[in-house]
Amino acid sequence: VMGQMMSQPLLISSIIQHADRYFGANEIVSRRVEGDIHRYTYRDCHRRARRMANALGGLGVKMGDRVATLAWNGYRHLELYYAISGFGAVMHTLNPRLHPDQIAYIANHAEDQYLFFDTTFLPLVETFAAHCPTVKGFVMMCDRERMPAASKVPNLLCYEDLIGAHSDQYAWPLFDEHSASSLCYTSGTTGNPKGVLYSHRSTVLHSYGLTIPDGLNVSARDVVMPVVPMFHVNAWGLPYALPLTGAKMVLPGAALDGKSVYELLEQEGVTFSAGVPTVWLGLLTYVGENNLGFSTFKRTSIGGAACPPAMLQTFRHRYGVEVTHGWGMTETSPLGTTCTLQRHHLDLPEEEQQAMLEKQGSVVFGVDMKIVGDDGGEAPWDGKTRGDLLVKGHWIASGYFKNEGGDALVDGWFPTGDVATISPDGYMQITDRSKDVIKSGGEWIGSIDLENIAMAHPAVQQAACIGVFHPKWDERPLLVVVRKPGAQVGREELIKFYEGKIAKWWTPDDVAFVEALPIGATGKVLKNRIREQFKGHALP
Ligand code: ADP
Repeated sequence: VMGQMMSQPLLISSIIQHADRYFGANEIVSRRVEGDIHRYTYRDCHRRARRMANALGGLGVKMGDRVATLAWNGYRHLELYYAISGFGAVMHTLNPRLHPDQIAYIANHAEDQYLFFDTTFLPLVETFAAHCPTVKGFVMMCDRERMPAASKVPNLLCYEDLIGAHSDQYAWPLFDEHSASSLCYTSGTTGNPKGVLYSHRSTVLHSYGLTIPDGLNVSARDVVMPVVPMFHVNAWGLPYALPLTGAKMVLPGAALDGKSVYELLEQEGVTFSAGVPTVWLGLLTYVGENNLGFSTFKRTSIGGAACPPAMLQTFRHRYGVEVTHGWGMTETSPLGTTCTLQRHHLDLPEEEQQAMLEKQGSVVFGVDMKIVGDDGGEAPWDGKTRGDLLVKGHWIASGYFKNEGGDALVDGWFPTGDVATISPDGYMQITDRSKDVIKSGGEWIGSIDLENIAMAHPAVQQAACIGVFHPKWDERPLLVVVRKPGAQVGREELIKFYEGKIAKWWTPDDVAFVEALPIGATGKVLKNRIREQFKGHALP
């Protein structure tokens, strides 16, 4: 016997319709690339998205076509999220921090039909536009006044002209919820980037997963600033999850330095934000140097790379900001795990709670995970045994766009390339990316542990640990350190700092001091770049 409940396709357009109908007057605030602050409401956003959907039809875009963006977090970008996917086309967010050749490669691979870009990226678009034969037009996201008098970009169109020329009378089409909604390429630090093609269904379910209390816990009482860019795994899904909840949305544009982020947090009364550790490093440095505090900022989600425990502690103890450590990847939409405590953890001593919160955490319903050993068999959940992490679920990729890289799954599970432990109560902790693991005398050394210890030293701003060749042990750990401005610390002191904190043989053999660590297009430390730099480094 079948159930007798209604069946409605889970479509992205239903999110913005809901936001308009129930949270129509709630605000979306954007720092524009022009520098000023723009304010409007969910209702306004929906209206302009409908106009843009009509414009897409006018441009000849068809269902399933890829339409690309090269833009910061802002209201026009948000309108495109809904207009393109709601129309039935595929929203393809390009990462402007990639090399122009790589952007062109990705646009060509995706066969993008139109490309929308923020005014700041005009010089960038000029470098590769001629190499993108599938793109029929380039749309600059501004009004007529800001359009350049002349440009090398072929078929240059104006965003506000398109909006202005079309009606807001538009009925969002209904179609199969499994249809492609958006496309995001992995950063491709090894080999060519591969496309992850999300569906309407996966996106809507992911949005539910994000908002639940042990997910990111966002509600209509929150003011949320996605610092993570909308070109980085769809700003972790927040542009979909927030209209679903009615939270006020604050979009920081291109100004991601500590001062600008701080000012916007304070001015708009932000309660929750999300981003990678390197962004928070900038904010904490600014706030620390100027002896400031937060008046409304209460919670942040940190992920994309391991959140150093020292950062977590500073947020919690010095500023009263709770940190939810999260783990995910482009292929997981990205929500995989978040770290929140359960009732029975609340009686644990503070240090034990702190140690729990440093982990990457547990899955939200809809995702399942396991760790496996070299033989492919499931490894025990004892919090000690390391294994390769595999996941599956409603919003996990089953393969790559155009089947790039062949079969992506192992027995129906997606291999993440991360190495992790899982505790008896299901808390996962990443020890490394498999390609970053340091192998010493046949045994693994977890580079994240070594980095976390170094970053707890008061003179250390940032640290990365890599394996360098050793004639006897194959590899030994080398610690690469950026000192805090004006701080003094030497090799011996740092090596001594590991004493009693870690198995003796894990201690780095050497320390190299650098001015800065190489940061990739998604704000993460590029370890492969550091390995190249220190290839052949002579250990003492
Ligand atoms: P992008 O580079 O676009 O962020 P990727 O899919 O390349 O996305 O990055 C996902 C990888 O980032 C994960 O496989 C993992 O190695 C790393 N990662 C994400 N979150 C965390 C975390 N909280 N702790 C440690 N590593 C993380």
